[in-house]
Amino acid sequence: MFGVWSPGEDVAKLAYYGLYSLQHRGQESAGIAVSDGSRIVVYKDMGLVAQVFNESVLNTLRGHVAVAHCRYSTSGSSVWENAQPTFRATPSANLALGHNGNLINTLELAGLLGDQSASPAGRATSDTDVLTALFAAAGIGASGAGHPGVEAAALAVLPLARGAFSLVFMDEQTLYAARDPQGFRPLVLGRMARGWVVASETAALDIVGAAFVREIEPGELVAIDGAGVRSHTFAPAKPAGCLFEYVYLARPDTAIAGRSVQATRVAVGRRLAAEYPADADLVIPVPESSTPAAIGYAQASGIPYGQGLVKNSYVGRTFIQPSQTIRERGIRLKYNPLRAAIAGQRLVVVDDSIVRGSTQRAIVAMLREAGAAEVHVRISSPPVAWPCFFGIDFPSRDELMAGNLTIDGIRESIGADSLGFVSLAGLIEATALPANRLCRACFDGKYPVPVAEGEKGKHLLEMAGSPAAGIR
Ligand code: SF4
Repeated sequence: MFGVWSPGEDVAKLAYYGLYSLQHRGQESAGIAVSDGSRIVVYKDMGLVAQVFNESVLNTLRGHVAVAHCRYSTSGSSVWENAQPTFRATPSANLALGHNGNLINTLELAGLLGDQSASPAGRATSDTDVLTALFAAAGIGASGAGHPGVEAAALAVLPLARGAFSLVFMDEQTLYAARDPQGFRPLVLGRMARGWVVASETAALDIVGAAFVREIEPGELVAIDGAGVRSHTFAPAKPAGCLFEYVYLARPDTAIAGRSVQATRVAVGRRLAAEYPADADLVIPVPESSTPAAIGYAQASGIPYGQGLVKNSYVGRTFIQPSQTIRERGIRLKYNPLRAAIAGQRLVVVDDSIVRGSTQRAIVAMLREAGAAEVHVRISSPPVAWPCFFGIDFPSRDELMAGNLTIDGIRESIGADSLGFVSLAGLIEATALPANRLCRACFDGKYPVPVAEGEKGKHLLEMAGSPAAGIR
């Protein structure tokens, strides 16, 4: 997500560049909402940022405030109706909203809406759409013109939402940002010469030339307009940031809680080498999110580092794509072995995580076909054994390889000569954060917020009918 408030700047282009730098966080759809002070225009479509927007579209989006979003679906299908920013028009103010995360009381919130849930997109079935409808229902229309309505509505609604929600939203005048009390997903504030920026990652601030100011705090709502930045606490902070951001999700050139993601990944690789040494000739990463950990492994082990797999950067991240069929085909498109580098070599292959195991199985087979003498797989996270309900589409425990198999069972299934996962303590230590400020539920099953059985699942609203039809 990206948001900008900056009179005199081309906010649509800034939002486009910001979104482009955050493409790795979601590749299914993209959208930008812009307001010129009197009217919000939303443009969104399925596809990558560069597929959805071109110069002429951006030129039609004029104004001083914008919010932008690229979607990776965890609530509701990957369809146009669920693309973001979501939008609601009310008699006194309009609202456009982008959401990173996943609510865990979507059905409960939809139940509060009664007849007011109907989406202008017709068949929207996401937690985000329900939240947007709640904002609209909570007084935007009743409070008169301008931002006090949205601000008051947000302060009334945000304490009702549970789960992961980093939000950027806007009315015609004002940019808002909010973060759930756990701060599961990152969200940062940046300063530009003529305005303010909020973004999912600090790397997006760098790309648009904004200076990092601070993180939006867990439980905080921020409003930004001509009067400056107003901060409200809507709930007490109970920090539990996502540990998996450090492993895979965030860009290496991002910093979270003041700690460089790249430095964390290198430190994890060093720790992995100490915990699971290997007798080998060459350390190779599964590019690119594993590259820093492979560098760390090579540094600590003294085994030379090299490239063994060439990645086609134009193929999306495999597990972010919605179906298993696409995922399996995607792996073959994505990597090709460097035969001359790996033939006859005993390899340490460093990867960031094993979810279903399909990527690693394909890579091990590919490396053996290319002549590798031995393939030792090292993973820079502990086994992912539990589903995530806070914004990562990990499958059910049944589909997670580590939910069903022992370490040796996983090794056998992927066909590796040896397999080692960094310990949870080692990973946490590398973040330089205390364990009690991190969510690590996908590794240890201890969820920072309890999740009711009836609120689990990506297609809750679709199974219930729709927010408009089924939950009355
Ligand atoms: S369960 Fe895992 S992926 Fe989900 S928020 Fe917690 S650490 Fe992150």
